[in-house]
Amino acid sequence: MVRFERVVKRFGDLEVLRGLDFEVRRGERVTLIGPSGSGKTTILRLLMTLERVTSGTIEVDGECLSHVRRRGRLVPADERHLRRIRRKIGMVFQQFNLFANMNVLRNLTEAPVRALGLPREQAEARARELLEMVGLADKALEHPSRLSGGQQQRVAIARALAMEPEVLLLDEVTSALDPELVAGVLDLLRDIARSGDLTVLCVTHEMRFARDVSHRVLMFDHGRIIEDGPPEQIFSDPAHPRTRAFLQAVL
Ligand code: ATP
Repeated sequence: MVRFERVVKRFGDLEVLRGLDFEVRRGERVTLIGPSGSGKTTILRLLMTLERVTSGTIEVDGECLSHVRRRGRLVPADERHLRRIRRKIGMVFQQFNLFANMNVLRNLTEAPVRALGLPREQAEARARELLEMVGLADKALEHPSRLSGGQQQRVAIARALAMEPEVLLLDEVTSALDPELVAGVLDLLRDIARSGDLTVLCVTHEMRFARDVSHRVLMFDHGRIIEDGPPEQIFSDPAHPRTRAFLQAVL
């Protein structure tokens, strides 16, 4: 479903990803862990096409992010191609990123109506179902600023799901929340991740959550994967001394 091949990403002189190769199968849930600055968020931003690779290729659902085949020839991806890929991907950010000038319902219906062309009534019906699922049915007409951080993050999760993505990217979704709100949001995500056949890529410092939801954990260090395995192994018996030291520091 997602494939990175020899992906290099540089910001100026800083090489953030150094020839990264990995694949995530459809329905697989993968957590990226590693020290701050090791390139985890950059991977999600590349997938979301918020950044471009310096070299190498990324494929989502068999489609290359940087090139597209037109009349038998490979040409650089245009905006139309990128939009089609972005539609397959939902992302939830650390800082919610809700549309402040729209009420909750509108936050959930805007993209399905504009990008997917869904009739507004259908988008609203789906939005209300999602709000029910995230426990905010009574907040549909509120503006985000009137909600708590935990509630805003639930809206952001519902908004990502409203696009019916095939891949869900979660970027430290609880790190901006007050500690007492974290468990509720993680419980919700646990249910969502386990209930469907969504492909999930998650960056988190919540190791218990990573252990509960992931099929696989990738440990990053300096823009490379240094360990790749099931959570039971990585968390209980890490093979790499760097993973051991990292886990000792965060657990
Ligand atoms: P954290 O756990 O702290 O979020 P991370 O592993 O997600 O870290 P990234 O956010 O991917 O790390 O950043 C990797 C490196 O790339 C960092 O040194 C960061 O400063 C740098 N970086 C990220 N985005 C940019 C940018 N747009 N311009 C310049 N440098 C950037």
